Amino acid sequence: MPELPEVETVRRGLHAHVVGRKIVSATQLHPRALNPKSIDTLDILSGAKVLDTKRRGKFLWFVLDRPYVLSAHLGMSGQFLIDPADQRHTRAQFTLKKGLKTTALHFNDQRTFGWVSIEEATNGLPRSVQGIAPDIFEDECDLDAVVASIHKRNVSIKTAILNQNIVSGIGNIYADESLWLAKVHPEFRANEMKPAQIRRVLDCAKEVMCRALEVGGTSFDELYIKVNGESGYFDISLNAYGQEGEPCPRCGKQISRIKFANRSSHFCPKCQRLI
Ligand SMILES: [Zn+2]
Repeated sequence: MPELPEVETVRRGLHAHVVGRKIVSATQLHPRALNPKSIDTLDILSGAKVLDTKRRGKFLWFVLDRPYVLSAHLGMSGQFLIDPADQRHTRAQFTLKKGLKTTALHFNDQRTFGWVSIEEATNGLPRSVQGIAPDIFEDECDLDAVVASIHKRNVSIKTAILNQNIVSGIGNIYADESLWLAKVHPEFRANEMKPAQIRRVLDCAKEVMCRALEVGGTSFDELYIKVNGESGYFDISLNAYGQEGEPCPRCGKQISRIKFANRSSHFCPKCQRLI
């Protein structure tokens, strides 16, 4: 599932192809492509100019010369692709134009958990993003407040950093990688941790996601690819996520996998102890 670095990579890729262009047509091709909360159908976009692209956590949106935005969530397998050859999973199609140049932008989504939506925006934020906390890369993200919020929770540290209302953008991959780097067991109770330790987990999350961004996100399966159709390369450098049975790169002990809160967690039982 695309997390912050993957969605940011998609946004950066899209930016150059859409900003300053006019949407001449927008067509929904699958009933689940449009979020049920969308305030209108996609054809309302006809004639709108794209002014900017924005992202918070795993949400991205196109700022338009209109009182609404076109927002998107990639879900499990959503992709934005420019002029793709393979159109089997195209769920919505946009034609953009600048001068004589026409670009076909496809929203592909094999598993159909992703969506696009027309939304009103307040203070620059689409409605679906209003309850989502700033992500760790935003200036609005107050890390001391995030630490304090996590410190109050009687949940595991992993559950806390996955909570998009506390800090957004971290999903299962980067949670496991951040906790491995910070040497913190995923089931450690958040309210039993020292604030400095929580801060270290967040600093590690930022570091891991920065490194992933530099290489264009993680290609954990074939379904995440950049707008130009290339895969990200971060999977080469995963230390814990998906590495069950492999030696911990730090100590050599086998990486374990446990299940809690309906998710798999990968960690080193030697480096990341519960007590
Ligand atoms: Zn280890």
